[in-house]
Amino acid sequence: MITRFAPSPTGPLHLGHAYSAMLAHDMARADGGQFLLRIEDIDQTRARPHWEEQIYEDLDWLGITWDAPPLRQSDRSQVYHEALKALWDKGVLYPCTCNRRDIITAASAPQEGAEPAYGPDGLIYPGTCRQRERPADMPAQTALRLDLSAVSDAPETLSFLEMGEVTNDTPKTVRFQLEDLKTQVGDFIVSRREFLGSYHLSVVLDDAAQGITHVIRGRDIFDATKIHVLLQQLLGLPTPTYLHHRLIRDEAGKRLAKRDDARAISKFRADGATPADIRRMVGLDIASR
Ligand code: GLU
Repeated sequence: MITRFAPSPTGPLHLGHAYSAMLAHDMARADGGQFLLRIEDIDQTRARPHWEEQIYEDLDWLGITWDAPPLRQSDRSQVYHEALKALWDKGVLYPCTCNRRDIITAASAPQEGAEPAYGPDGLIYPGTCRQRERPADMPAQTALRLDLSAVSDAPETLSFLEMGEVTNDTPKTVRFQLEDLKTQVGDFIVSRREFLGSYHLSVVLDDAAQGITHVIRGRDIFDATKIHVLLQQLLGLPTPTYLHHRLIRDEAGKRLAKRDDARAISKFRADGATPADIRRMVGLDIASR
């Protein structure tokens, strides 16, 4: 078993991150496997070195050790470029020049005043740029989207294995239709104008490069996994087993976000909490393990 924790250095780690990291770490250790770290700093406009430092410090304090030097997305633009080129050569990408406002306008055009729909990649893209003539060469400095209607070498029914959060649960097969991605996800972004690649593209390439066998992450990313499984098919990459865990919420039942600094691990630590207290807070009680 090879698991990983893949935080973005764009803010402090909070209790939700601690749960993700400890769950992935504990599972690998219990299995005699490996636990790896990846710094998801592909968005250099938001990543900050001091947040990366804080990640190492927080994990260290929590007693989490990783078995290889962390993989940093900012070092991997060549790999992302090659994958994009392979997809471009298959004819499944197109450049997109729409901004958010263009998408909202086009998405609500058929029914004036209708609320545009959201999928796991944000606003469901209405396909405006799909019809445009495509250049012969893959353009740099333009966002690229995956043309779901042009995908021909993926099965109609796709699937992945989902593990339960309770150890010893048999993994379940989650099946979904390629056709349904067109309405529920839309042509998603595989490369952004500001940087090479997108979260979806880099995450599948990085999980494959690190040989991840079990991806353990929050339930909020469950629907995006369908995008990842499709990309794995198109790029000839293995599909790991997934575990989308429960989300840690605040007292009001709200999901924790990066900006909830009150829940930052560093804050609890400064207030005198111990790593064992953090385990208890997220329901990973040592005594029950
Ligand atoms: N970098 C993502 C985050 O911090 C993690 C995504 C993943 O685990 O696949 O939310």
